[in-house]
Amino acid sequence: MTKTTTTDDELSDKQIERYARHLVLPEIAEEGQLKLLNAKVLVIGAGGLGSPLLLYLAAAGIGTLGFVDDDSVDLSNLQRQILHDVAAIDQPKVDSALIRLKALNPDITFQPHALRLNSANVDQIVEAYDLVADGCDNFNTRYLVNDACYRQKKPLVSAAIMRFEGQLTSFRAFEKGDKPCYRCLFGNEQIAEKGSCADVGVLGALAGTMGSLQAIEVIKELLGIGESLSNNLLLYDALGTSFHRMRTRRDPACSLCGNKAPAN
Ligand SMILES: [Zn+2]
Repeated sequence: MTKTTTTDDELSDKQIERYARHLVLPEIAEEGQLKLLNAKVLVIGAGGLGSPLLLYLAAAGIGTLGFVDDDSVDLSNLQRQILHDVAAIDQPKVDSALIRLKALNPDITFQPHALRLNSANVDQIVEAYDLVADGCDNFNTRYLVNDACYRQKKPLVSAAIMRFEGQLTSFRAFEKGDKPCYRCLFGNEQIAEKGSCADVGVLGALAGTMGSLQAIEVIKELLGIGESLSNNLLLYDALGTSFHRMRTRRDPACSLCGNKAPAN
């Protein structure tokens, strides 16, 4: 008999076929695929990093996939934002993303959030998810998301790109030990403004490299497989074709998670 529906603890025949290449990996298998199908992931930004990230997470069968973006598609986005196309120009990015992602995997619940995160809405939105992946293009949002994830004890997988360079890490500063938060590594807002991709440029395919690596880290964090990047910062130099991994630690003076920070 063909199984066409699924419960939370059983794959349908269609799902067994769709996720066959995951199911043969002993590190994922049916148990891991069910974990992915029951996971709720929020992606910040449906742009350069968000495009490959959302496409791979949807393809991987993340059961509930939320995405936040308040922007519309512009012709200058199409150099790297592969979720969107010419027909979507001037449309909200979340609408364009939803059409593409639904066509890729109708198995998933998509939750588009057409808004800009701020201190009044960030906690309520983050609360509904198990993990957050940040691929936004501005520092204010990065701090908001970092702080909300720390307060709510949600893992945060964070990537950034500029010019020919990318960086990637995971944050689990809410755990005991010396795992840092975003503020530990990059300080506070007032010293963080270093320019944007619009000002200094970015190689389009770099978004693909870093967004794909970010999708892998999200899946690893959800499944608890391999090595978490929560004590490392991965740096990619596209011109030098080199990866460099730096050990990271909590800053005891961090205003959010340091020794003198207000207890959560
Ligand atoms: Zn910190």
